[in-house]
Amino acid sequence: MSRFLAEKYQSLVAYTPGEQPTDMKYIKLNTNESPFPPSEGVIRAISKERVEELRLYSDPTCGVLREKIAKQFGVEKANVFVSNGSDDILNFSFMAFCDGSHTGVAFPEISYGFYSVYADLHRVDAKKIPLTKDFRVDYTDYLNVGRTVVIANPNAPTGIALSVREIEEIVKSNPDHVVLIDEAYVDFGAESALRLTEKYENLLVVRTFSKSYSLAGARLGFAIGHTSLIADLEKIKYSTNPYNINRLSLLAGAAAMDESDYYMENCKKIQENRAYTTDALRKLGFSVLPSSANFIFAKSDAIGGEELYLELKKRGILVRHFSTELIRDYNRITVGTIKEMQTLVETVRTILAEKTSD
Ligand code: PMP
Repeated sequence: MSRFLAEKYQSLVAYTPGEQPTDMKYIKLNTNESPFPPSEGVIRAISKERVEELRLYSDPTCGVLREKIAKQFGVEKANVFVSNGSDDILNFSFMAFCDGSHTGVAFPEISYGFYSVYADLHRVDAKKIPLTKDFRVDYTDYLNVGRTVVIANPNAPTGIALSVREIEEIVKSNPDHVVLIDEAYVDFGAESALRLTEKYENLLVVRTFSKSYSLAGARLGFAIGHTSLIADLEKIKYSTNPYNINRLSLLAGAAAMDESDYYMENCKKIQENRAYTTDALRKLGFSVLPSSANFIFAKSDAIGGEELYLELKKRGILVRHFSTELIRDYNRITVGTIKEMQTLVETVRTILAEKTSD
């Protein structure tokens, strides 16, 4: 830290992203990326001519992409906001819809780590609501909470989802606060709250192209909600960085929307591979939470969470371990191809066997 850093940021603890090591080729099951490549149309869209156009600024209104997203989800373009990854939208939402002096935020104590970081960054009072003993979000904890509500559905890193009926109860009971539902993983088996955005002006649904649409490196996220919420987000975007999505990512996103069938097929494969991995790990004695996402959260009584993470890493498999007390026994394992998952299961089997023969 330099002596110039603003005082308000001196105690900020930044988010720690999952490792992206370059020392060797790993089976990468640590950051919930898709194991499948982007669709053919995305690859065709990034042509030489388009690359040459990088000398020009990108379209700040993101018109084509917003139009495609609107059509895909049956809403108007004015209901759609796009930005540089859904992290950007979460950041903007904390700026727009929370206010340190009178509107704090509520989110689950165990959830996406960035929520806490954004709350600290923007000096918003955060109420972190514990999960139930079996790691569920209890929707009744969020009724009439009188704060902006942020919930990942399915939740991360647990993978457990709320029903739309439960989400509607939360939205209904907090009419004077925004309820942000972060649906980063919804395509892998949870129910989307999108249709409720027509009915409730205080609901914002946030999505990403990073997981189900195989475009984590393009950095694209979108939000759907009432036109006035979208206008608020636009205001923040135009007050920070109007060209925050580059030309190539705009093209990639638009092409991906045209090929949703390909991506939804991939999501089905991930669900099959998730079922295989859950079953195989349970047979090896693991407790595995019931996941509706493209990852599973698992622990074994035979080996500590950190030890398993390190043993897997030594053998070329990366998973995500969190050292937070409540979840330190677990690892979050992204669901990859069936071959990757078979290798994972066999490697875990070997590690456990070596441990018992010690
Ligand atoms: N929300 C959740 C729950 C996540 O796990 C992630 C991925 N780390 C994000 C949002 C952000 O995704 P992105 O910025 O790649 O759209």
